[in-house]
Amino acid sequence: MNKLITPQETIKIIQKNDFRFQKRFGQNFLIDENVLQNIIRSSEITKDDCVLEIGPGIGTLTQALAEAAGHVVAVEIDANLIPILHETLQAYDNVSIIHNDVLKLDLHEVIATYNHGNPVKVVANLPYYITTPIIMGLFESHAPIQSITVMVQKEVADRMQSGPGTKDYGALSLAVQYYAEPDIIQEVPPHCFIPRPNVGSAVIRLKRYTEPPVQVEDERWMFQIIKAAFGQRRKTLLNALSSLASIPKDATREALASLGLSETIRGEALTLAQFAALADALSDFQST
Ligand code: SAM
Repeated sequence: MNKLITPQETIKIIQKNDFRFQKRFGQNFLIDENVLQNIIRSSEITKDDCVLEIGPGIGTLTQALAEAAGHVVAVEIDANLIPILHETLQAYDNVSIIHNDVLKLDLHEVIATYNHGNPVKVVANLPYYITTPIIMGLFESHAPIQSITVMVQKEVADRMQSGPGTKDYGALSLAVQYYAEPDIIQEVPPHCFIPRPNVGSAVIRLKRYTEPPVQVEDERWMFQIIKAAFGQRRKTLLNALSSLASIPKDATREALASLGLSETIRGEALTLAQFAALADALSDFQST
C-alpha cells in the first residue's frame, strides 16, 4: 500500500479521479510526512483507541491513523471524495467512512455505534471555515471525547491558548480552557498542503478535563455572559452586560463590587474563575 502523504501520490490520486478542490469545503490536503507523524505522536493513539476523524479528504491522515489505532471513523461532507476514500483505504478493515456534515452528526450515536459509548480521540486537519463551530460542538455535546488533536489556523490556535489581558483572549479561549488543557504542538507553514492555504497553520492538542477547572452553577449562563462580554469588546463589562436585557445595571454593579472588581473593568481582564463567580452572582437574572 503506497503512502498517501507524498505530494506525488496526492497529485496522482487527484488527477486519476479528476478531483476538483472545493473552496467552500476548506480543502487543503496535507503532504508533509513530518507533520503527519507529529500529529500521530502527539495524539498518543494506541491500538486500544477509537479515533474520530473529521474531513478525511483523500485519506492521507486516515491511513496513518488506521495503522496506529484500533478503529477509525472518518466523517466527510464531500460526496466526490467518498468513492476515492473507499479506494485509497481499501486495504484497511478498521476504517469506517461516514458521508455526512460533521455539524449534523449525532456524536453520541456515532460513539455508541463504533466504540460502545466509550471515550474516543478526535484527530483532524480541520476545514478552517468552521473550526470554531466544530470545536464548540464537540465540547458542548458532552459526548465522550478524551482528547482533540487538530490542525487549525495558527491565529485560532493562539486564541485557544491565550490568557486574560492579551489581544487573542476571548470567548473561544475561555470555552476551550473550561473544557480542556490546550497545548500547541507545532506551527505548520502553507507549503505543507495542496493547495496552499493563505494563512499559517498549527497543530493543537486539547486534553479534555475530567472535571472543569472552575465550579459554576450553570455553565450555559456563564457562557451567555462571556459571549455578551466579548460581543462588545471595547465596552466596559458593565455596559456590555446591559445587552443581556435580563440583568439590571445596578445588579451588575453590585456583583462586580462583591467580587472586588472595578466598575470600569473590561471582559478581557477577567479570568475564567472570575467569569464563573460573576455568573453565580448574577444567577437570579438568568432568562429561562
Ligand atoms: N484530512 C485531509 C488531509 O489532511 O489531507 C483533508 C483535510 S481538509 C483541510 C478538510 C476536509 O474536511 C476536506 O476533506 C473537506 O471536504 C472536509 N469537510 C469540510 N467541511 C466538512 C463538514 N462540515 N463535515 C465533514 N467534513 C467536512
